[in-house]
Amino acid sequence: MADQPGEHERTMAFAEIALGQLKALRQSATPRNYEIWYAYATGHNQSLNQSINEQWASKGTLTDGDMEQFYASYISSTRITDKLDNVGSRVMDEINQVMSMIDAAIGSASNYNESLADVTNRLGNAKDREGLRSIIESLVQTANDMHKDNRALEQRLSASKEEINQLQENLEVVRTESLTDPLTGLANRKHFDDRMARAIAEAVERSEPLSLVMTDIDHFKTFNDTWGHLTGDQVLRLVAMSVKQNVKGQDIAARYGGEEFAVILPNTVLRSALNVADHIRRAVMSKELMKRSTGQNLGRVTISLGVAAVRKGDTLQTLIDRADACLYAAKRNGRNRVICETDPEVAGGAPEPKVA
Ligand code: GH3
Ligand code: MG
Ligand code: MG
Repeated sequence: MADQPGEHERTMAFAEIALGQLKALRQSATPRNYEIWYAYATGHNQSLNQSINEQWASKGTLTDGDMEQFYASYISSTRITDKLDNVGSRVMDEINQVMSMIDAAIGSASNYNESLADVTNRLGNAKDREGLRSIIESLVQTANDMHKDNRALEQRLSASKEEINQLQENLEVVRTESLTDPLTGLANRKHFDDRMARAIAEAVERSEPLSLVMTDIDHFKTFNDTWGHLTGDQVLRLVAMSVKQNVKGQDIAARYGGEEFAVILPNTVLRSALNVADHIRRAVMSKELMKRSTGQNLGRVTISLGVAAVRKGDTLQTLIDRADACLYAAKRNGRNRVICETDPEVAGGAPEPKVA
């Protein structure tokens, strides 16, 4: 596609601003960070710019976690909205076409009726064989025309049906995307919140158990600082896989935040949830990490986990808070461990300062 005059200069200027921001804030030059700053430079996404400006002004810097939030809130969701708009306008096109086909079919059916009425009149007045013959010929002609119209309509309708089926599939893909974290393929935060609220309500109503596991990678900042953000992203995928492989059926594994994961375990008592959590922990620590590009051994990462079970009167937030308190207790007590709400370590106290 040929660029508009000046378009090249304009896009290069945006690119320079984006790179400048990455340098000034000493952020990793990942495609995601670059995309955020490029969008910022264009100024098209006002809410993104406003949010960045506010956060920047209040903190004086922007962390990887902030960048990820901006991306999730303003960029990936815009993409999904664009896709939905696209599918929506194709559905409207298809409906308009089917409507005009139906109009045309109604028109040709009423022409057919008129022709039949005409034939009935002419039959009454037919005097001889020739007259009858011409009436029958015109009848056959009208029936042929109608048949052709019907066939064309049938074909068009079946093409429309296919197109609509395709659009339905597209919508399903967009819907799944809107609920999935793109990096790990797990449920995203929004999906987690929705499912969790529903699962708690159901568990309380049916007096069934439900447990929640909250997970956080240990010393992940140090890992990122040492091996780079992209390698960090691979570790997030690996942890996600370990979580996924240790849950089943109606359990829901989600990426709760940057390097935090949550697992909803319906119909599961605290003790069983503790078991699941420990399996996940072991799965993560059993994996020796290798940098793909260089074959370098990066050692292992560990995770800490907190487990809580639903109680009467719980809301989404109270249950998360209790599981989080257990997670902090696991951090305080040396990391790479699972702590549940009946463990003595849980009582009070903030997490110990992070070791860089
Ligand atoms: P702790 O053991 O106490 O949890 O220490 P920590 O270093 O893991 O804790 P902290 O919350 O300070 O650091 C979280 C780090 O996770 C910050 C950031 O470098 C990293 N992080 C968050 N989101 C992402 C992401 O999407 N990709 C990558 N690579 N790193 C991320
Ligand atoms: Mg954390
Ligand atoms: Mg951490």
